[in-house]
Amino acid sequence: MTKAIRSVAELAASGLISPAREAELVAVAARYDVAITPTMAALIDPADPADPIARQFLPDIRELDIAPEENVDPIGDHAFSPVKGIVHRYPDRVLLKPSHVCPVYCRFCFRREDVGSGGEMLTADELEAALDYIRARPEIWEVILTGGDPFLLSARRLKEIVQALEAIPHVAVIRFHTRIPIVDPDLVDAELVDALAAEKAVYVVIHANHPRELTAAARAAALRMTSAGIPLLSQSVLLKGVNDDAATLTALFRGLVAMRVKPYYLHHADLAQGTAHLRTGLAEGRELVRALRGRVSGLCQPDYVLDLPGGHGKVPVGPSYANFSGKTGWTVEDPQGIEHAYPPQSRP
Ligand SMILES: *Cc1c(COP(=O)(O)O)cnc(C)c1O
Ligand code: SF4
Repeated sequence: MTKAIRSVAELAASGLISPAREAELVAVAARYDVAITPTMAALIDPADPADPIARQFLPDIRELDIAPEENVDPIGDHAFSPVKGIVHRYPDRVLLKPSHVCPVYCRFCFRREDVGSGGEMLTADELEAALDYIRARPEIWEVILTGGDPFLLSARRLKEIVQALEAIPHVAVIRFHTRIPIVDPDLVDAELVDALAAEKAVYVVIHANHPRELTAAARAAALRMTSAGIPLLSQSVLLKGVNDDAATLTALFRGLVAMRVKPYYLHHADLAQGTAHLRTGLAEGRELVRALRGRVSGLCQPDYVLDLPGGHGKVPVGPSYANFSGKTGWTVEDPQGIEHAYPPQSRP
């Protein structure tokens, strides 16, 4: 297996981009870090100009085009960061971000201004201050480790954090958000899985966007976690040219459920800078979600959510099937799109 690629020069040397594009893409990489793991690089067909894996990880000159609605803080996290490494936007749960490093740099990342070599890792003192923030607030019921990818931490450091959270009485749930089980599945080894062990509920949410990402190695990594009693959920980002068709989303969600991963969220792509070429419209997203309902197992239906700019929070934006009118009462649309009065009209 080849080694991880962390520069445009390495992308060109490995044949993933043509030498002609190297110069222009150096400018993109100067703005947003580039990285792809061997597992993901091996999935790319360099002969396919529309390859859905390449679109997610290989830099594109269009990233330098900034649309007026795009923002360096697309979901307004910064205003909710009371101490370094913590984002506290909802009363009962916080994000804890011990690191800014990812194994890949997704070109659509909503945190692209904060992750990468320009970001800052929490020092031991800063981590302790973040934990103190949690300790001092009994309303914090859940701690969500994200980043950066928390599974890039050493098993020893992960274990320390899990144990520290385990010892805080009011914390009931420890949740990890990670892309490692997909992009570098062998890192999810026995030692890492052991580090996650707690008496409290530990959930792992896996980020996956295309059915091709669900490799045999990813499946094995998932099995190592579920065998240890860790429930798995997934989050996916709706991306133009990657998964914005019903067949691809169906294959993705079925593939996840078949490896014991419950699709949790389908995110509408955030307004991160330089990502317009990867975004769909809300209307298209709703049509896709509607196409799945009724035709595909309910287990395969994540919530379609939008994180509102300005820190207003995450909200479901999927189709609504029930409408109320003062005159006729409730009308509910069935999965075929036919409307029905509810309760059914009584006969005269
Ligand atoms: C997404 C998010 C969460 C987690 O939200 P859930 O709906 O519980 O998955 C928590 N805090 C912040 C700041 C978030 O952006
Ligand atoms: S793994 Fe997550 S945080 Fe890291 S670059 Fe991709 S989307 Fe961003």
